[in-house]
Amino acid sequence: MKTIESFIRDIHDFPKPGIVFKDLTPLLNNPEATNLCLQQLLTPLAHQRIDKVVGMEARGFFFGTLLAQKLNAGFIPVRKPGKLPYNTISETYALEYGSDTLEIHADAIQPGDRVLIHDDVLATGGTAEAVCKLVEKLGGAIVQCNFIMELEFLNGKDRLNKYSIASIIKY
Ligand code: AMP
Repeated sequence: MKTIESFIRDIHDFPKPGIVFKDLTPLLNNPEATNLCLQQLLTPLAHQRIDKVVGMEARGFFFGTLLAQKLNAGFIPVRKPGKLPYNTISETYALEYGSDTLEIHADAIQPGDRVLIHDDVLATGGTAEAVCKLVEKLGGAIVQCNFIMELEFLNGKDRLNKYSIASIIKY
């Protein structure tokens, strides 16, 4: 069996010059590797009760829904503005140039819900931090933020130092 890392494809200069994009589609294309990755995300959550898994648009949806099924939890999508059909709350966060906004359905989390936050990549941590704020605005308790990959040189963990962080592959 090849390692999970061997199913991640580096795409240079995508979507912009200078970025090395971590493409997880070869991993998703292989059921054994997908299952191995899922099991590794689940390992540090053994014996934890999780009520909701929150996944970020769009690549957080893939393993977010698989994790929710395995944890017997609900899955909640966080999306870019104007995509969710019901009442939403939003959080705006700074990017290197400009800002971005994320939304969540206002009724998706009940106060006291134990929440797992999932995305494919932790880079600067801005996205995950905004999602944590959305969850906390709705009264959710964040049990862990987990990622398939962490770009350690961008120090995203520093922005998330209030939370438990887990990632399978560190670059
Ligand atoms: P950040 O907010 O800087 O932590 O960026 C995380 C978000 O951007 C996640 O939703 C990732 O899917 C995406 N992302 C950032 N850097 C990369 C990368 N090098 N390859 C793939 N996705 C990335």
